[in-house]
Amino acid sequence: MTAIMRRPAPWQVWLGCGALMIVVYYVLPAGGSGRGFLYPALSASCTLMVVAGIRRNRPVRPSVWYCVAAGLGMWSTGDFVFAYLYYVRGDTTFPSYADACYLGAIPVFAAGVFILIKGRVSRRDRAGLQDALIISTGLALLTWTFMMRPIAEDHSVGLLARLVSLAAPAGDLLLIAMLLRLVASPGGRSASYRFLIGGFAFTLGTDVLYSVVNTVAVYEGGAMDAGWMTSYLMFGAAALHPSMRSLSEVAPDRAERFHRQRIGVLAATSLLAPATLVYDGLTDPTDVDWKAISAGSVVLFLLVVARMSGLVAQVRDQAAQLEALAHNDGLTGVPNRRAWDLELHRETMKARRGGTEICVALLDLDHFKRFNDTHGHQAGDRLLKEASAAWRALLRPGDVLARYGGEEFGVLLVGASTLEAVRVLDRLREVTPQGQTFSAGLVRWDGAESTDEVVGRADEALYHAKHDGRDRVHLSDPIRTTRDTRILA
Ligand code: GH3
Ligand code: MG
Ligand code: MG
Repeated sequence: MTAIMRRPAPWQVWLGCGALMIVVYYVLPAGGSGRGFLYPALSASCTLMVVAGIRRNRPVRPSVWYCVAAGLGMWSTGDFVFAYLYYVRGDTTFPSYADACYLGAIPVFAAGVFILIKGRVSRRDRAGLQDALIISTGLALLTWTFMMRPIAEDHSVGLLARLVSLAAPAGDLLLIAMLLRLVASPGGRSASYRFLIGGFAFTLGTDVLYSVVNTVAVYEGGAMDAGWMTSYLMFGAAALHPSMRSLSEVAPDRAERFHRQRIGVLAATSLLAPATLVYDGLTDPTDVDWKAISAGSVVLFLLVVARMSGLVAQVRDQAAQLEALAHNDGLTGVPNRRAWDLELHRETMKARRGGTEICVALLDLDHFKRFNDTHGHQAGDRLLKEASAAWRALLRPGDVLARYGGEEFGVLLVGASTLEAVRVLDRLREVTPQGQTFSAGLVRWDGAESTDEVVGRADEALYHAKHDGRDRVHLSDPIRTTRDTRILA
């Protein structure tokens, strides 16, 4: 037995080293410059790992990864600038050049995610777009009410500081909406994809948590840094993992699966508008933000209605498909036995009211078993398809051609006299492909008999046609066998 020691893959090495850096970070004294500079060192290493991943794995569409690398580079620069200003210069002015780097990275990341969406998401996936918009609208209302509105209305802070403080949650919201679009649509979820989404989820989640904590109390501790540092680990692993090559490959179309969880999330986010109204009303009824809440509600309602109409259309399409499956023969595409019975019943009922003539014929290919034995079953199948198509093309739209079973077909001629029916059948005989022939039993519905009786008589007539030598039409009433319509003319 040989023990195989596999060398760890680069992405595993990176995760190990990165995790070690996080451990060292928390071993170092809080508030010290050691932590202050280890943090940007991690983000810079992460940026380098993404560049290394691009060079090593050669992705099919590298632009996504270049955007991620550029965005991370800007964040890392921001981290260094912040560390320099804070720990070296003791400068705590807000906003600083670091904030410019952080905010400037948002459109760069958004461009990367946009390219990824364009590559991965089918344009026909309207449901995924609507779901992402519904959730984003709910979150936007929440973000506005609890994070942005207090900042916007706080006139004690300078305009620039306020704008920067507003831009941060707005940028996060944009990225969250775009990521929801990605996650709501079907497609392969490779390790690289999961790491990349995880990277964004950690950084955006930590941003949100940070903002929430800061609205309650001023937070200075370093616990949040673990979230941002974990995101750096994930971004690096996403680019180093070999599955990053085909990350933006177009996803195969898959039928949408409407999970219960998805309905739960959609319901919860749709309820955020009334929940905000209740919250505003309970905390300060004189200061209800009716503009934002009503705008959010209108958008949410319209999106939900659009989603609903999409679902209704989908159900209708599926019902039509099922109907077609249930009533058409799989091989020839003409109506099947079930549809034949229904049509025959419907047409005789109609004819009874309107006094129309109806002729019913059963067609059976001659010596089809021999044809199968000689040319093979598949050639037999082809003959069935070609024959039914040729016959169908000759019949009027109101007439019915159905596969009664095996190599036997039913023909229902509405409003045709027996003479006309014989002529029609003779024309069908002429177009039967590959030099093959059929025998047919033809009857005229007497206006009173049941569908079983009329088909029974047609079957009897067919038996006579076979018995008399095949390749002919046997008319049951009056009893006459024809190989030539001129006999009847
Ligand atoms: P006859 O002239 O008396 O009608 O002789 P026949 O050989 O046509 O009649 P028979 O009933 O003995 O054989 C019918 C054959 O049709 C047997 C069966 O294998 C074949 N058949 C039935 N359904 C299909 C099908 O879907 N595809 C193919 N290729 N053959 C089929
Ligand atoms: Mg036959
Ligand atoms: Mg038969």
